[in-house]
Amino acid sequence: MIIDSHAHLADKKFARDLERALARASDAGVERVIAVADCAVSSRKTVALAHRFDKVYATVGVHPHQARRAAEQDFTAIDALTADPRVVAIGEIGLDYHYDPSEADAQKAVFCAQLQLAREKGLPCVVHCRDAYPDLLEILVEARAEEIGGVAHCFTGTVEDARRLVDMGWYLGIGGPITFPHADRLREAVRATPADRLLLETDSPYLPPQAKRGRRNEPSYLKYVCKAVGDAKGLSYQETARITKMNAVRLFNIAAHVSPEVAYSLKRSLYLNITNECTNQCYFCHRKRDFSYWGYNLRLPTEPTYEEIRERLAGDNLDRYNEVVFCGIGEPTMRLDLLLRVAAEVKRRGLRVRLNTNGQGSLAHGTDIVPQLINHVDAVSISLNAATREEYNRMCRPQNPEKAFDAMLDFAKRVKKAIPEVSFTVVATPDVDIDACRKLAEGKLRIPLRVREYIPPPKSEVDNLD
Ligand SMILES: [Zn+2]
Ligand SMILES: [Zn+2]
Repeated sequence: MIIDSHAHLADKKFARDLERALARASDAGVERVIAVADCAVSSRKTVALAHRFDKVYATVGVHPHQARRAAEQDFTAIDALTADPRVVAIGEIGLDYHYDPSEADAQKAVFCAQLQLAREKGLPCVVHCRDAYPDLLEILVEARAEEIGGVAHCFTGTVEDARRLVDMGWYLGIGGPITFPHADRLREAVRATPADRLLLETDSPYLPPQAKRGRRNEPSYLKYVCKAVGDAKGLSYQETARITKMNAVRLFNIAAHVSPEVAYSLKRSLYLNITNECTNQCYFCHRKRDFSYWGYNLRLPTEPTYEEIRERLAGDNLDRYNEVVFCGIGEPTMRLDLLLRVAAEVKRRGLRVRLNTNGQGSLAHGTDIVPQLINHVDAVSISLNAATREEYNRMCRPQNPEKAFDAMLDFAKRVKKAIPEVSFTVVATPDVDIDACRKLAEGKLRIPLRVREYIPPPKSEVDNLD
């Protein structure tokens, strides 16, 4: 299932066959469409469509091309429409200097006013930008756009523009142009952007993908975009679909059912999500946010039993995996007994077991748990996260700030003696001292350190995954 995050369904090119086009979209796996407006009239029409079709949501706003023509009553009408529950964003708004750069001042004024409207209404923005990234980014910084949230739709900027948007917690909307033969620069920007920050879009009826060039674009062609984005990112079609769908759900705060997963696969590893509890509250952790990870919903309604996990493993072809990993979104050693039972079962089936842990298991249980892990676990990955106790406490907010950091280091030393493969990880947040972490891990403790990418959190946090 995929979500078309940008389509002009109120466009007259859909006047005759919208219903059939949406049926074709459903057949192609397009689960939802964000219908985008460009003026007050199309805002009204788009909202009406969102009421007519369950799968359609609406945005309202004035496009930069319409900026000079928009009158006071248009903005009043758009303001009123934001109260409609089917309206999920302000858009499309932005800057477009492609045809007439002399309009810049008028466009900027209209853009800024609508950013302010988005802030007031608590809605994200769908932003259009053509030949205007320097001005756009300057305005977004000025407007503290990280507090508003949004997507740069039909992104065509540079790798650096992409990075700046991602740093603001914004998304990039990727459309038909990614399928064009000469779009190497765009593919490069997509490659450099975390999958967590990409949305798929058609911009129908415009910009058809390469396979449909010359035709009217429509939401069912989104599959070509999904394929091309996956190819650029080295992800499968399913992975790209799942991740970008979660991103759209998160940005537009639309209700969606994404089943919670007790087990999920990434590349050749099967991850087991056995608990949401943790003795840390790391500010960068996905469980602090919305429990979504690589498009999976990891928020557990209840903790799984041993029987449930065994059943889940029995229903999977484990030959596909190199290893089974106790994942770190909750702290797996909080359920040590279950962990050991499941690990024994996994090893019986001939697979390698890895434990991702915050290293506080012995502290939490009041006893050295390392002897119990021997023979059950082949590899342990410990979240080091910081080089000093002060830094650790600031970032991870452990339940036991006096002892947590030292207990974690002590655990690492003991594990190193007992288990073949041990490593540390650190998330590259802006305020972490990676060099100091490396010195501590690799210099002093002789345990290799893996640096994990930090993706700044988006503004909206998902509460609507059931
Ligand atoms: Zn646009
Ligand atoms: Zn558009």
